[in-house]
Amino acid sequence: MAVHGTLLPPPPLLKLTEQGAVALFLDFDGTLVGIAETPDAIRVADTLGKRLESLAERMAGRLALVSGRSLEDLATHLGKPAIFRAGSHGAALIDPSHDMIGQPPEKLPAKVTDALSEFADSQELHFEAKSHGAALHYRARPEMQATAEEFAAGLARAHDLEIKTGKLVVELVRPGGGKACAVHILMQQSLFAASVPVFIGDDVTDEDGFAAANTLGGFGIAVGERKSAAARYHLQTIEDVHQWLKL
Ligand SMILES: [Mg+2]
Repeated sequence: MAVHGTLLPPPPLLKLTEQGAVALFLDFDGTLVGIAETPDAIRVADTLGKRLESLAERMAGRLALVSGRSLEDLATHLGKPAIFRAGSHGAALIDPSHDMIGQPPEKLPAKVTDALSEFADSQELHFEAKSHGAALHYRARPEMQATAEEFAAGLARAHDLEIKTGKLVVELVRPGGGKACAVHILMQQSLFAASVPVFIGDDVTDEDGFAAANTLGGFGIAVGERKSAAARYHLQTIEDVHQWLKL
C-alpha cells in the first residue's frame, strides 16, 4: 500500500493531453468541493457547473462526475451542467443531454431505511435518505464509527445489501454498481474510445475508480491525507485539484 506523501503529483494535464486522448473522472465531495458538517451544508460556487462544462469542452467531452450523491441531490448543489454525471456511486448515469444511460438504481426497502433512521435518532447521528440507498453520518460523534458500521453491516447482511464506508459516513446500497462500473460503462462509449482514463477522488469508494482506471491503461489521483492502495499520484488539496485541472 502506498502511503500518502510517497506518491508524487501527476504530470501537468496539458502534457498528458499532448500525448493522447485523456478522459477525466472526477469525484465531487472532498475532491472538487469541501466537505461540510452535513451533506446539505456544502458550499458550491455558482460558476462551478459552467467551469466544468468548459473543462469538458477542452477534453472533447471526455469528462464525467462520479459521485456518491444521487443525481437529484447533485443537481440541487451544482445545477445540471451539460457533462456526463454518474450518481449513487456510479449506479445512475446520465449523459450531457441529461438522458439516462442504462437503468436508474432501485430504492431500498422501507424496512431498512426506517431501521437506519430510528437508529440514527436514538444515537444522535445524522440519517440521510438517498434515492438509491441510505446513509448514516457520524461526523458529529466520530467515536460512534464502530457502532454505526456494525449496525449498518447487520442490516446489510439481513437484507442482502452492501455497505460503503466513507469519511465519517456509512451507507447502505444494493449490491453491484460502484464507481468502477461507471468508468467501465463510459469507457465503452465511442466518445471515450482509446482514451486514457484518469480518476481523481479522495475517499475509500474512489479506490474502485482508481482500480478501473488502472485496468484500462490509465491511473488514479488520490486527494488529501487518506492512504490510497490503488492511486498512482497524489494531490494534497481541493485547490491543488482545481489548479491541476485548470478549472
Ligand atoms: Mg469524495
